[in-house]
Amino acid sequence: MAAETTDRPHDRGPGLRALLAGGGRSYSFEFFPPKTEAGERTLWNAIRRIEPLAPSFVSVTYGAGGSSRDRTIEVTKRIAAETTLRPVAHLTAVGHSVAELRHIVGQYADAGIRDVLALRGDPPGDPRAEWVRHPEGFAQASELVTLIRELGDFTVGVAAFPERHPRSPDWDSDVRHFVAKCRAGADYAITQMFFDVDDYLRLRDRIAATGCTTPIIPEIMPATDARQIKRFAELSDARFPAELAERLEAARGDAEAGHRIGVEYATAMAERLLAEGAPGLHYITLNRSTATLEIHQNLGVSAPRGNAQVLAPR
Ligand code: FAD
Repeated sequence: MAAETTDRPHDRGPGLRALLAGGGRSYSFEFFPPKTEAGERTLWNAIRRIEPLAPSFVSVTYGAGGSSRDRTIEVTKRIAAETTLRPVAHLTAVGHSVAELRHIVGQYADAGIRDVLALRGDPPGDPRAEWVRHPEGFAQASELVTLIRELGDFTVGVAAFPERHPRSPDWDSDVRHFVAKCRAGADYAITQMFFDVDDYLRLRDRIAATGCTTPIIPEIMPATDARQIKRFAELSDARFPAELAERLEAARGDAEAGHRIGVEYATAMAERLLAEGAPGLHYITLNRSTATLEIHQNLGVSAPRGNAQVLAPR
């Protein structure tokens, strides 16, 4: 189903494509679809605290399969219907036929959602297992980008990997396939989490050397607890800095100290990224707003529309 260019229920600011193409910076927050009612309340509490900052967009990750996928669609649509925020829907090709992907994109179009982050996805269950393409589906994210652009006037984002995609045999192929996604019609990219700014800068230089000018927005993941380090390793192959790990270990059991360390480290990363010309920041919230709001506030780049108290820690 093709998307029509209809008015949105709220003024959500200039589209992402226009913002980034005009050299503007995008500030955004990422959520995941909760599994429980308590999780739902936590999520909506975070969304309502972030809303007055008028971020460029908020995004909702796409589940590995089944009901979590439906919840992504529900949460994304609800953000579009009930808030002033611009929702970006993550969508993965894995496990879907092309017909199913068309149907999901059509559902977003019907709900007035025009922003999709097009991803290939990982095998459900074990992300490191062999990647098997759906018999009537896609093998790469670039094909999903092409499909979404064919289906209507969508702004499409893709993934980028400062430490290289774990399945890429070398940098040449990684960069070549990233550029193919951009040429297929991606308007911008968001990176995988990383903890060394130089990794982002090296990736950006590699992409720029090909002549590709697609803006690459760095992802900021505050690490505030030593117990998270193992989880990060499961989620991504990002190298975790020994110095940060040691500081978090030393603060183990002291939530406030861990929080301070994580926010301080992420703020320093964010400051350097912006000083180096990054086209914005994409914050991972884990559905809790406090750390990311503090980092954003530390940068002094927020444009709150509402009460400044929204920035006060809970
Ligand atoms: P692709 O761009 O298809 O790349 C995957 C691998 O295939 C790379 O090694 C690439 O070099 C290679 N490749 C690409 N094209 C070709 C080709 N023509 N020939 C040979 N090799 C090729 N996962 C989720 O399940 N849900 C989410 O919501 C989600 N959100 C994410 C958000 C961000 C910002 C990021 C960075 C990742 C996210 N992921 C999510 C994880 C993502 O799905 C995985 O990292 C996945 O393994 C790669 O997806 P991709 O879109 O980069 O794939």
